[in-house]
Amino acid sequence: MAGETKFCPECGKEVSVNAVVCPGCGIQLKSIGLGSGKNRIVAALLAIFLGGFGIQWFYLGKNLYGILSLVFFWTGIPAIIAIIHFVLLLISSDEDFNAKYGTENK
Ligand SMILES: [Zn+2]
Repeated sequence: MAGETKFCPECGKEVSVNAVVCPGCGIQLKSIGLGSGKNRIVAALLAIFLGGFGIQWFYLGKNLYGILSLVFFWTGIPAIIAIIHFVLLLISSDEDFNAKYGTENK
């Protein structure tokens, strides 16, 4: 998703969707309801199409799960997990999604 931009609600400057702080006015972008830059539906689609390789985990910032999926993709287990993950992503609310994946990883 490189190159995607959004507009700062404070100063209107175009900033990267991944920007935590607006470079124009310095306000925090991620705590004011602009979202995390991660989209629940995109994550679900990645899970169902590329989940066998754990691509949705990298998208969601859970790189450890992503790497484990890549290592074990030949077992087919990551694909099964991805199908479950796909359903969970579809039925969860955006609030739940942001709570789980929206904030920066601790
Ligand atoms: Zn700004």
